Amino acid sequence: MKTMQEIRDRLASGEAAVWTAMEMKERVRKGDIPTVDEVDVVTTGSFGVMSGTAAVMTVPVAAPGAFLRADTVTLNGVPAFPGPCPNERLGTVDLMVYGTAAASEIYGGGHLFRDLVDGKEVDVVAEAGGKTFENTIYIEDLPAARIFTTRSCFRNYTAFVNRGSDPARTIFSVLPLEGHMSAATVSGCGEINPVENDPALGHIRPGTPLLLNGAIGMVMGEGTRSTPERRNIAACAELSAMDGDCMGGFVTAHGPECLTSVAIPLPVLSADDIIRLSVTDDQISLPVADINDRVPFSAASYADVWQQTDFTVQVDPLRCLFCGPCTAAEACPTKAVMMGGGIMRSRCVACGTCVHTCPNGVYTMDAGALHLQDDSEAAVPIVLRQSDRSRAEALCEHLRVQLQRGEFLL
Ligand code: SF4
Ligand code: SF4
Repeated sequence: MKTMQEIRDRLASGEAAVWTAMEMKERVRKGDIPTVDEVDVVTTGSFGVMSGTAAVMTVPVAAPGAFLRADTVTLNGVPAFPGPCPNERLGTVDLMVYGTAAASEIYGGGHLFRDLVDGKEVDVVAEAGGKTFENTIYIEDLPAARIFTTRSCFRNYTAFVNRGSDPARTIFSVLPLEGHMSAATVSGCGEINPVENDPALGHIRPGTPLLLNGAIGMVMGEGTRSTPERRNIAACAELSAMDGDCMGGFVTAHGPECLTSVAIPLPVLSADDIIRLSVTDDQISLPVADINDRVPFSAASYADVWQQTDFTVQVDPLRCLFCGPCTAAEACPTKAVMMGGGIMRSRCVACGTCVHTCPNGVYTMDAGALHLQDDSEAAVPIVLRQSDRSRAEALCEHLRVQLQRGEFLL
């Protein structure tokens, strides 16, 4: 047994053993499970589409006294909810903006949050008392801006297939999901997900520090729809401290969604912690549901998604034939595909869509296939991953460095 204070003291003196979740799993896979004395902290992380993300911000609209109350407000066309404070005659408006709110089919709240963090200009349009007020703002103009997640880091998600005959357009697909169980879409970072490594939320409690989109924030508690079997968390952090590469927008077949990332350090205090941190992808069930009724009818495991598969896309620009409108660029849900067979790595989340939309094999990635537990013959190819394990791993590494440098305190 160790105490938190002992770990804090070891961190302060530079003697703490801080491992990433990847190092922990490597030891476990070798059959060499560490003792409590060997490791003090394990860093965990998750990156992907998380719908329950919203921002609360104070936005300057016009001079004080210019209007009584704002009736409607948009930011880059993304509809926001003014209030709850009426802010009478202040000229500034408190707003809530959903990460899934849409300005268009290809731009929504997630894109807006990243544009603000990236220092881009944002257009504000407010309607008040029958008049229109317009302003242009940057993130530094916001007196307050904070991201809240209502349900993030789900311990495990559900994979979807389409057992019908007609292609289905949903938030769980980018291209219409082909029927006859010919393709699968998946979410979740498996064995390195924070909640998967602390499933009863023994360490992840209200007030626990974390990285939310790269900013130091804290856990607020369990999120909505959290159950003992499939827990998730609610969290918050300051928008201005976030890193654009750790967040953003993602366009599904049903419109804009929000990319969010979380990283949490888990202390190793007891042998029970070691047992929990030893979970591996093959032990984590991935329920499989039909997209048409969303009722799980089978299960696979996260080993199908993240073991012996590629975490990033390989690009062979020499295969690009400049075939008119680039179908890969048009379909890419993060606008990471560049003309001429290239990828903007800072935006790519390794979802796999370009692999299936470029007809000339410029993009390749083995995204795996689901092996359903009750049908050993069926292997359903994964055509879309809405989580990015490679970025989640980078977050685990980043958090480890911050802990070791004393920039992130337990
Ligand atoms: S679809 Fe493929 S081959 Fe055609 S322009 Fe795009 S990257 Fe090049
Ligand atoms: S894998 Fe391809 S389609 Fe998906 S985000 Fe990256 S570049 Fe875009």
